[in-house]
Amino acid sequence: MSVQLRAEGSAAEGSAAEGSAAEAAPCLECKKRCSGFQPHSWRKACMTCGCSSVDHTPGSEAEDDQKMGRLLADSPFSHLTAKVKGGGGLRMYKRNRMIVTNPVVSGKDPTFNTTTYDWAPAGLNQKLAMQYMELLPESLRPVSGSAGSLQRRRQLLHQLPAYDHDPMKCPSLASEEEISTMLLFVKQYKQEVLGVGEVALPGESAALKEAVLLRTVKESGQQQGHTSASAAAAEGSNGTDGMTEYRCTGCKAEVAKESPVVYAERAGYHGALWHPTCFRCSECSQSLVDLVYFWSSQKLLCGRHYCQSVWPRCSGCDELIFCRSFFTSKDGRTWHQEHYCCWRCGVSLDTPCQH
Ligand SMILES: [Zn+2]
Ligand SMILES: [Zn+2]
Ligand SMILES: [Zn+2]
Ligand SMILES: [Zn+2]
Ligand SMILES: [Zn+2]
Ligand SMILES: [Zn+2]
Repeated sequence: MSVQLRAEGSAAEGSAAEGSAAEAAPCLECKKRCSGFQPHSWRKACMTCGCSSVDHTPGSEAEDDQKMGRLLADSPFSHLTAKVKGGGGLRMYKRNRMIVTNPVVSGKDPTFNTTTYDWAPAGLNQKLAMQYMELLPESLRPVSGSAGSLQRRRQLLHQLPAYDHDPMKCPSLASEEEISTMLLFVKQYKQEVLGVGEVALPGESAALKEAVLLRTVKESGQQQGHTSASAAAAEGSNGTDGMTEYRCTGCKAEVAKESPVVYAERAGYHGALWHPTCFRCSECSQSLVDLVYFWSSQKLLCGRHYCQSVWPRCSGCDELIFCRSFFTSKDGRTWHQEHYCCWRCGVSLDTPCQH
């Protein structure tokens, strides 16, 4: 626990960029056996130990922020990103970090205890953000340097793999046609499916709705933006939604009025809200990392599970399959034709090999 002198608590926004590159991340799965991540040519796995690249969390936080920036760009949630200076239109995730400073009462001189959260929901005051964090199990609180922070980075890699939205990260795309199919798919889900949950108190959804309205007006009419935006906001409700009782869309249990919940714009604000711990993928049940969700058939999904509900995913390289002919094994798993083989020696999986 680091102890620092600080005048007051502050919520800070940061674009942390401690940048150790992809080299030698030890494996979290088999620890001692692996001396460092060695990427396989097409499998998203380590040549040294055989475990998945997610188990090595290669890359840096700056790379994570770049990936998230790319995912949220050109979506209704691009306000959570910022243009990179001199980056030719590239956008970086404006990850909301939170630094909480508490005075330590024991001892003569006042000292302060500082806790940094690598991520916190955007747009909240610190009290509500802390209430939100306290509702999460400790293993999921992204306190800098803790197991929760590492878990957050692993979930980013697992739920939102870069190769589900960035063709440059897809060595298995084999033709122009596949690339344009993928680009169209990504464009579509960014406009219609992808969302980022918002934390508020139950009943505060009217304010969230107004904020969306303001953003839309601002974006659509740069010129008359300001005045008509204020007018649109004024037309909005008086701040309450008129409901007397709130139920979690996930577990159906009642939600306490003074306890923060998660709203999802795609689900409509009225009545659709979740306990923070119920805001999870309905396929893999993982908590949705940084509240990024995909709303499909009235269900919350993580990026991975939404994408593979639309396109088959290759069990070899883990990328989505956009070509017409692919292989389906007896157990129903799908593969690029050329990846239905042992990743060590290349022999077809129907032929036994020493691996
Ligand atoms: Zn390894
Ligand atoms: Zn390993
Ligand atoms: Zn619930
Ligand atoms: Zn999932
Ligand atoms: Zn493949
Ligand atoms: Zn083999």
